[in-house]
Amino acid sequence: MSTFKAFLATKQGDQFAASFEQIDQGALPPGEVLVRVAFSSLNYKDGLAVTGGPGVIRKYPMVPGIDLAGVVEESGSAEFKPGDKVVVTGCGTSESMWGGYAELARLDGEFLVPVPESMTLKQAAGIGTAGFAAMQSIMALESHGLKPGGREVLVTGASGGVGSIAIAVLANLGYRVAAATGRAELHPYLRSLGASLIVDRAEVAATSSRSLETQRWSGAIDNVGGPTLAGILRSVATGGSVASVGLAGGAEFTSTVFPFILRGVNLLGIDSGRVSNARRREIWARLARDLPLNLLDRMITVEPLEKIRELGGEILAGKIRGRTVIEVSS
Ligand code: NDP
Repeated sequence: MSTFKAFLATKQGDQFAASFEQIDQGALPPGEVLVRVAFSSLNYKDGLAVTGGPGVIRKYPMVPGIDLAGVVEESGSAEFKPGDKVVVTGCGTSESMWGGYAELARLDGEFLVPVPESMTLKQAAGIGTAGFAAMQSIMALESHGLKPGGREVLVTGASGGVGSIAIAVLANLGYRVAAATGRAELHPYLRSLGASLIVDRAEVAATSSRSLETQRWSGAIDNVGGPTLAGILRSVATGGSVASVGLAGGAEFTSTVFPFILRGVNLLGIDSGRVSNARRREIWARLARDLPLNLLDRMITVEPLEKIRELGGEILAGKIRGRTVIEVSS
């Protein structure tokens, strides 16, 4: 029986371990479609999974890697045939289903989306869960009334994956974008993606005794959570919405009800994992239309799968810029 290379996480009692293994193809969990993985990517949750952090892997042994882009080898799904280019973003991969840090993956068709014609497999993996969640956030803000032409839209965790893609899409759609970052050396990068204003992240997260502050933002995409989210809620303009995507800076926040009852602010939760296949295709169609691929290419750094542990530590330490694509099979 043929084997394939995989990065496999295991747990014996409390002892987490992860190593590269050659696995029999027959050991792949069941699924309708067999995909030869070309690229995966590095998301914040991948950093947690490969370093044994809490809250991601729910079942061992596990092949981590939330995202994958590759070519269909075998298909029992009417939607896909051998040779099709497909992309998978967070849908339980690296949690209860084997993910993209392996040369082969087997998944049901409902989790796969065709790679848009305009994109390469590398670009699709470069978008990955981060880009998918960025687009999902923008669509949620739009459906709550956000339109270009008003005050700036604030994006926090700006130099990270979700942040970078959100900035590029919003700027391309004609929004004025404020990028909140803690890394001064990345201001030129953020401006090159389309940010028109740069804000120090400490300013957004600063505590305040006031329940409302000057109305600054027409909307916001928040990847940071904690005091940052509290600060945003105090400063979003009347009728504006905040998409809560992440927790890079903390899970807990304190707010009063005043942004909601005096300014009609909406707090929108973004969960990129539980999304129907039809909706996934709509989000990818918007990415194909609204994300300039030359800007996406500027965000992408390609790294070999062999470096995955080291890269996991770096993303948790907030040292990664933009999107890291993991080359799985060349
Ligand atoms: P990245 O690590 O690429 O980006 C996170 C960014 O947040 C960093 O680049 C940094 O930006 C900022 N940051 C990091 N640490 C801190 C800190 N302690 N305080 C304040 N800011 C900090 O991660 P992703 O972009 O992939 O993901 C962002 C968040 O969104 C994560 O929490 C992730 O788990 C979550 N997420 C949620 C999804 C969902 O479905 N809801 C889907 C995808 C991601 P800078 O250096 O510019 O300040």
